[in-house]
Amino acid sequence: MADTTPWMKVFPNALAITNPGWFVNSALLIVSTGALLFAQPDAGREAGKLETLRLMDSRAARFKELSRRLWENPELSFEEFKSSSLLAAELRAAGFGVTTNVAAIPTAFVAEWGTGKPVVAVLGEYDALPELSQHPIPERKALVTGGAGHGCGHNLLGAAGAFAAIMAKDHLQSRGMGGTVRFYGCPAEENGAGKLHMIRAGAFKDCDVALTWHPDDRNEPGMRSTLANQGAYFRFHGAAAHAGRAPEKGRSALDAVMVMTHAVELLREHVPQATRVHYIITQGGTAANVVPELAEIRLTARHPDAAELDKVWSRIIKCAEAGALATETRLELELSSGLANVVPNDALAAIFERNMRLVGGVVYTPEERAFAVKLRATLPSDTLPPLELAGLIQPIQTETTSWSTDVGDVSWNLPTGEIRAAAFVPGVAAHTWQSTACAGMGIGQKAMIVAAKTLALTAIDLFHDPSQVEAARRSFDKILAGKKYISRLPPNAKPELKKTR
Ligand SMILES: [Zn+2]
Ligand SMILES: [Zn+2]
Repeated sequence: MADTTPWMKVFPNALAITNPGWFVNSALLIVSTGALLFAQPDAGREAGKLETLRLMDSRAARFKELSRRLWENPELSFEEFKSSSLLAAELRAAGFGVTTNVAAIPTAFVAEWGTGKPVVAVLGEYDALPELSQHPIPERKALVTGGAGHGCGHNLLGAAGAFAAIMAKDHLQSRGMGGTVRFYGCPAEENGAGKLHMIRAGAFKDCDVALTWHPDDRNEPGMRSTLANQGAYFRFHGAAAHAGRAPEKGRSALDAVMVMTHAVELLREHVPQATRVHYIITQGGTAANVVPELAEIRLTARHPDAAELDKVWSRIIKCAEAGALATETRLELELSSGLANVVPNDALAAIFERNMRLVGGVVYTPEERAFAVKLRATLPSDTLPPLELAGLIQPIQTETTSWSTDVGDVSWNLPTGEIRAAAFVPGVAAHTWQSTACAGMGIGQKAMIVAAKTLALTAIDLFHDPSQVEAARRSFDKILAGKKYISRLPPNAKPELKKTR
């Protein structure tokens, strides 16, 4: 029964007709007037969506509270033990079956309800960032000095995804409809590419569509493409020596890092315009009077096109080899992260846009407006967009953005749609103390409800109208044009569960 047409699910009595004449007449009417085929279920669907919005208003406080509990307990990548437990418990209480330890990651889980097709997934993240601890106030004040904070708003991301999945499930259940709702508890988006491990473990194999969102300073229904990236630790091994007494006996690993970074800086002039290269020196010796035996640099390169990125990457490796050659040290290369660019999906963006316009943007109370004005006073005034941006729904944007996300890898495996909602005051960038403050108070929580509603309505649309799932698949096939997904995760890579960041 799970795969019967939607109008039969909505009107199950149609399967138990005892008057054959009525049935034949009705069937003829339906065949002869195709437009009528979906007229009744569409009316039911629209009413159901409005009912879902009303229900979500009545339950919003619970999920705002959940997001706040996540915010108060910021956990770094792969350490999201309490956060993943809180979300899994909420889904379990709502009737979902929960599988934990997905891909052998203790903080990854999949919650599922229902049977049959389509399988619609909502993705959630919940990891925080180091050193962004912050009170929910418009001035810099850490809750815990040096502590972690939800500067990317993943506390909102996770809570909204769970809320949307639960509401889509309630809609199916109340109407006796078939289909499967899943919530993917995805750890380590910030640092560890959790979704790549989940993909490799086959967690997305039978999924038809994935829906997600991300906090931003505006409301966008479409998903822009992002940059593919590749990261690695470049480690140089030299020979220690007394820097004053016997420098000629030393081979400086730090010198190798300096030659490499100089070569990388020269390389910048000769790479395609859209390339990004950035690095930190993670080890550079311990004492000025000891020639450093070990030095390490962590470097990331990005480009919108994975093939172009590969070309740049091979040249960066030559820069590293040059460092080792010039200083007579040994290079050790350890790939760390590598993400695919996002594959946008026109069909899903169109459904998102309709639903987001129905839901509306973020409307501030006078207190929230005062918070926003004060927070914006901490930013350079020449970069500020209008405050009213929070209440508007942007048209679908198509240009590529310059960040990377592991949602990109999911989008290479199945049709994926992502929206953005104005959780941060317009002008506030993610990964800042200002964004951490927003994610812990009313403005962030309102955007979370905008996102949850838009995701829930879109899932409901997909369950009612399987042709939209097929349209999403066509959009996916068209943009990839036969290109195959290649994971940038090294073949034997294990999740960096214990890695020092
Ligand atoms: Zn982030
Ligand atoms: Zn993020």
